[in-house]
Amino acid sequence: MERFRYQVMITDCDHGSIEEEKEELGRIGAELILAQIREEEDLIRVCKEADGLINQYAILNRNVLGHLPRCKVIARYGVGVDSIDLRAATDLGIIVANVPDYCIDEVASHAVAMLLTLIRKTALFDRKVKSSQWDFRQGAPIHRIQGKTLGLIGCGKIGLEVAKRMSAFGVKVITFDPYLEKVSEGIKLEDFDTVLKESDFISIHCPLNDSTRHLIGDESLKKMEKKPILINTSRGPIVDERALIQALEQGLISGAGLDVLEKEPPDDQNLLLKMENVILSPHVGFYSEESISELKRRTAKNVADVLRGKRPGSLVNREVLGKTRATISTD
Ligand code: NAD
Repeated sequence: MERFRYQVMITDCDHGSIEEEKEELGRIGAELILAQIREEEDLIRVCKEADGLINQYAILNRNVLGHLPRCKVIARYGVGVDSIDLRAATDLGIIVANVPDYCIDEVASHAVAMLLTLIRKTALFDRKVKSSQWDFRQGAPIHRIQGKTLGLIGCGKIGLEVAKRMSAFGVKVITFDPYLEKVSEGIKLEDFDTVLKESDFISIHCPLNDSTRHLIGDESLKKMEKKPILINTSRGPIVDERALIQALEQGLISGAGLDVLEKEPPDDQNLLLKMENVILSPHVGFYSEESISELKRRTAKNVADVLRGKRPGSLVNREVLGKTRATISTD
């Protein structure tokens, strides 16, 4: 029988194949087991011998972590680590790692796709032509893209890629990002109100937190002087949906493209579902076959790295350094 050097457990995941993870962990002689469990007792029972965990939704609280004496690393599929009690992991010397940048290309392209769809009204025309209405005037007014201004709320990894793509259309890019002192050439840092006032298109790329929840609400929508198109591929609650619906009804903005909503999936009665100048997608910005494959490979590599004594690609709980259960080289 094959003897493995390590045991790595996937607590749960919503993808079918674990080939990438197996390949990556096979390189360090680790046995990989897909448990598909989420209950606390099951997690404790099944994972107690594991040297490392890969996790998607199962809640790894202090009690669970306290019962995993061999566990040196937990790698989360994706960016968020809400499923893991970080303080408990740190107290116990367990490294927590994530993959924050596996879908930059996808989300940026999705935001641009939504924006172009609304500018050129392709989704509207598609519906009209398929219901035997052949009349370009039904889309009026349509405005030229070149020379317009795109305002980015947040100009990190995704915002920057959106800027690059839209610059190729001859669009001027401005951004509000309170944590940046300078941005790439061709993008201008502005204050929040200037971005609201001067933008023909606004695309949201900041994280959701206490300061960004309902950042786009009654007050900010009223400051949008150019009746912009609003795109949100970030997180639903950054936009106050009640205020957005009202702004769309009153013509304060000319359209909205939303990959994320306050409630996902939305209720059938949500008025956004019935509006012609709104396009929606089911929080799919992250997805491509390539992004998922990359996510799986890099998540598994985070575990493999720690078990072979290296820091993972993206360490979440930096405070754990110096007291890790795994022996991590300092170089
Ligand atoms: P990032 O951390 O690289 O960039 C976020 C930027 O927002 C940073 O530059 C930061 O300074 C800025 N910021 C923080 N607070 C702000 C505020 N109050 N106002 C304006 N800017 C602010 O993150 P990223 O990789 O570019 O991702 C951006 C967001 O995209 C994520 O937070 C996530 O919510 C979302 N996202 C969505 C999907 C999807 O499937 N739709 C997938 C991945 C990420």
